[in-house]
Amino acid sequence: MSSPKATLHKLYLHSEQQPRYETVSVLVNRTPSDDASGTILVRPLALQPGGFRCTLFVPNCLPVTSDVFPRKREAEQDAAKKALEQMGCAYSCEMQLPKVSTPEEKMEALVERIGAVFSEKVIMSFYPFREHFKVAMTRKDGRSGAVPAAALAVLDNRISSLCKSLHVSSENDPLFALAMICEAARRSSFVCCENGYLIKRKVVFTPQFEAEFLGSNRQEEAYSKFKAVYIPSSEDLIVRNIEIDLEPRSYYMDTLARNLGVREGSEIMMSRTIPRAPNDARLYYAIPDIQIIPKSWETPVGVVLQGKNELVYNRRASDLLGYSVYGDAILASVGSTWKSEGKLVFADVSLSCYYRLLLGRTPEGNYKLKRDAILVSKLPNSFSSRAQWRGTLPRSLLIDFCHQHRLADPDFVLHSTNPSSDMLPIEDRKGSNGSYRCRAKIVHQDQVVEFESEHHYRNRCDAIQSAALRALFHLSKKVPTVPHHVQNVQLSPTSTSKCLSLDDRAVGCEPENGFVNGNVNSEGSSNPVDYLNKAIAAGSMVCMSYNVWLVGNGVNMKVEAHEEFEFQIGVGGIIGELESIISGMHIDAYEELLLPVDNIENILATNQETVHDLENPVIEQCSLKYCIKVLRIVEPSEDRMESALFSPPLSKQRNEFALGKIRELNAKSLVDFGCGSGSLLDVVVDQITHLECIAGVDISLKSLLRAAKSLYTKVVLQKNGDEDNYSSKLKKIVLYEGSLAQPDPRLCGFDIATCMEVVEHMDPEPLKRAGDIILGKYAPRTLILSTPNIEYNVLLQKVALDTKVSSGENRVVSSGACLNSSGHFEEPAERSSIANLSDDESNAQSIRLRNDDHRFEWTRSEFQEWANSLALRFGYTVEFSGVGGCAEDPGFATQIAIFTRDLPISASEENRPNSLKAEIDASQRFFPCYREVWKYKKEGFRK
Ligand code: SAH
Ligand code: MG
Repeated sequence: MSSPKATLHKLYLHSEQQPRYETVSVLVNRTPSDDASGTILVRPLALQPGGFRCTLFVPNCLPVTSDVFPRKREAEQDAAKKALEQMGCAYSCEMQLPKVSTPEEKMEALVERIGAVFSEKVIMSFYPFREHFKVAMTRKDGRSGAVPAAALAVLDNRISSLCKSLHVSSENDPLFALAMICEAARRSSFVCCENGYLIKRKVVFTPQFEAEFLGSNRQEEAYSKFKAVYIPSSEDLIVRNIEIDLEPRSYYMDTLARNLGVREGSEIMMSRTIPRAPNDARLYYAIPDIQIIPKSWETPVGVVLQGKNELVYNRRASDLLGYSVYGDAILASVGSTWKSEGKLVFADVSLSCYYRLLLGRTPEGNYKLKRDAILVSKLPNSFSSRAQWRGTLPRSLLIDFCHQHRLADPDFVLHSTNPSSDMLPIEDRKGSNGSYRCRAKIVHQDQVVEFESEHHYRNRCDAIQSAALRALFHLSKKVPTVPHHVQNVQLSPTSTSKCLSLDDRAVGCEPENGFVNGNVNSEGSSNPVDYLNKAIAAGSMVCMSYNVWLVGNGVNMKVEAHEEFEFQIGVGGIIGELESIISGMHIDAYEELLLPVDNIENILATNQETVHDLENPVIEQCSLKYCIKVLRIVEPSEDRMESALFSPPLSKQRNEFALGKIRELNAKSLVDFGCGSGSLLDVVVDQITHLECIAGVDISLKSLLRAAKSLYTKVVLQKNGDEDNYSSKLKKIVLYEGSLAQPDPRLCGFDIATCMEVVEHMDPEPLKRAGDIILGKYAPRTLILSTPNIEYNVLLQKVALDTKVSSGENRVVSSGACLNSSGHFEEPAERSSIANLSDDESNAQSIRLRNDDHRFEWTRSEFQEWANSLALRFGYTVEFSGVGGCAEDPGFATQIAIFTRDLPISASEENRPNSLKAEIDASQRFFPCYREVWKYKKEGFRK
């Protein structure tokens, strides 16, 4: 009977799409075992993945998720079984439960496997181990049939998985595996363990076998040389390239051993291949004197290094591998591929390769490498949106980091920031316009650490990315990195170059700060005035071309260059000194910047091999000359500014403001004019209010349908069976399609009306009519009306006052492009016809509108004049307020007018809002003209 996975595989054998398995490890926090003896130097991991969960994506079916299993394989089988059940092909036979074996049994299996590996039959067909055998067996000193235990530990999958099942830490440190293999070899009747770590067949090979195996495809007799990287344990010594000379018929492990100062190949350790290193590169280092304690296989807790006093911890090598390495190490690339036809291939490993691997061990280094801009880029400290991010996304960086450091996968928990729906699982909140936060959980240094996304995100994925970025920042501080032992060099400014001392590096903002209330946090300053001097708005995407030169001391060498490099301004995505200069530059401007060398290893990690010919002290005395030219600037969108620069996002603050008023006034009915996709209505139905009747109006059917979908989900689906629900007071919701410039009697007599961020989307004529209709005909008791305050845009956009007006938001301003696209402020006549505005447009003229679709944006005084005159005409009092920032100059980001009707229309109106309808209907003769798009009525509720 085939397994579920195999059955499923057969089903899809000839289909184009294949089932896809995604398996993640699930966290378990195990308390580190107490060990009484303080002698343990190499500790097993205290934290391990608790198991695996697999999600299976079967073409044309719903995805299924398995339970948690200790092995990946089991989780996959379980998922496959569930998928088959779902497809109706119930998998009849019970899944064979994995046999739980005792440590003793596992040890037996290991003994058996090691014996098998040395059998003539297995060796012949045993890729990739065969080649190692061959070179080991043909070495001239005649120890035929002997192989270092270290090679067995990492080259045979079956052996390494058995070792892992005996002790999970052996996956992370082959020293554990080594000890177990030696123990197994001692127990075996087929092989023996010589000189400590040399595993040898007890019975000599048959002459036929030797002739056949060794005779076929002999490893090159030729003399060969290859380059490796020598990593001394003493940090006073530099990492350097060495050349390995392979004499004919020598075993390369022996040669490496001699380079490391030990006698022979079996005395050195071979690490697993280093992730991302080219061509099977591994570290080789002398095996310290070890002993596993306790001897029983039930509870092996550690490895004791004997004679540890002579051992010197090799930090640089340990950083590469993620576990402790003692003594000098060699990074070399020896491997075999199918292509190499049974021969081992020796490839050169460059110094750059070493430095890049080292850099790649850190979250920030990884980002730099992926962007291929080691000397320029930096992990941004803030995530605004996917569209603004350049380079690998934080989530992938984090997952990658966890894999590399053998940590469990991070766990992301999303939550809606809408307090009352917090209890619902996230799936039930689909379609809501709410904003999201995310918590990322990682296990690091024996602790579960949680990171909250920076602010609220409309998009869940963005919230995840932001939380992941926070975690990366935490990790980049914790992970051992290259020491900054290089002294700062005093530079004398040259005539053409700007020179900053290291202390001027102000922009390197702490990630913790984020954006708060519109004060963009670059330069660690909350003073908005700083931005007035900047040419480029925070949040803009800038594209530059650059070269970085290593100069001074007779050196003049290009070390890094990009013809087009794009990044976001204001989030610290490039090194601080550069960001600070660039944010003051205009398109086509060119600048040079001279910086001292502060991290020599970064320079060595650039792809410029020639820097390795320089002595390190020479590099230290050089400077880095950055030559930059700004090619393009893309300004940020309104949406992005609102959600990135305000916490909570401005739209949320507006909705909260309206909600507050609705509660304060005990309103029973609400109409939202220009409700769009229902962001306000969504919030309102989730909250405890006195509202019974809700209406929304918009001219856009598409938006209304979105609003309807979301309200339906909240009010109809989620409420089912829960009559005590917060929304149970709601009796009726209607969404109308129609223009505010036309009246419809059904909108009369509401307690409260809202009109958020709508007026600026309307042309003067319709706007005037809409004002007359809303206050004159519909006459709500209260109207809350919001619109952008253009005076605030200065802070949002850091506009230089000499640029011309343009209404484009996401417009790409390219070199040579014309800046004066049609701005609506160019015709003051038109504007005064809107509402007889005052003339203080002097600064407004130079400022861009927040959104392409805005017809205008008002200053505070323009807005107030318009609102005052409207209120006056229809017997309303008006108050002004706002959200985002504060009332002081330049005012709130969003300005809000609260209109209150001076006189009640009739005393009875409070209780029966609809009585008014007939009255007005008759007297003013206007007829329903809006189309009802969606309606909800509570059962038993008439009208
Ligand atoms: N009030 C929502 C949406 C603001 S966007 C919020 O705060 O999120 C502006 C909305 O006004 C859009 O949905 C647009 O369709 C609507 N709108 C623009 N002109 C309109 C008009 N003449 N009549 C009705 N709605 C209009
Ligand atoms: Mg708007």
